Amino acid sequence: MRIKAISLFYEKGLEKEADISKDIIEIVFDFKFTLIEKEIKKLFKNSKKLNGYIIQIPKDKNACVILTKKDIYPYGSSSKKDDWVFGISTNQRKIIVSTARLGKNKNKRTGRLIYLLIHEFSHFIFNDKPKHYKNFIYKNPESGHKMYFGKHCMDDRCVMVESIDLKDLDRHIEKKYENFFCKKCMEYL
Ligand SMILES: [Zn+2]
Ligand SMILES: [Zn+2]
Repeated sequence: MRIKAISLFYEKGLEKEADISKDIIEIVFDFKFTLIEKEIKKLFKNSKKLNGYIIQIPKDKNACVILTKKDIYPYGSSSKKDDWVFGISTNQRKIIVSTARLGKNKNKRTGRLIYLLIHEFSHFIFNDKPKHYKNFIYKNPESGHKMYFGKHCMDDRCVMVESIDLKDLDRHIEKKYENFFCKKCMEYL
């Protein structure tokens, strides 16, 4: 059964982003949201080493969306340059999106946030079920550093494809399907 009521935690300064996120997810996925401003320190583990925050796997099972201005490092690994992600959906039902790397242009930031939210929230809804998903691994050609992004759609016009950096994200947004999803992913909505 679907959880219909979800909390959206956001960091001070992300009030507008929180409003947009609430609207988008309510419209696209038909969930009801409560907005809660919260100090992000309580949800993440501060890591000086990575100049950012590492996800602390919380014990409670409530689904929630978290918006943060901080970089997020899901694996606590060692490369500050490579190991950040735009967002992540944990199997503890935490859907997290960071605005840290969305750029300065207001319109572009909003478009990117919406795209990432739909992506991460769909991970939560789909729960790795789509049969056409494949494990996505990215190897930085310069450093040789490997990132394991988990299961994703390989159709690069689909919102469920993985984006490794801002350039990649913008390229995906530019050519995305009108209703974001490819036909195969659409079946799981
Ligand atoms: Zn993803
Ligand atoms: Zn797809």
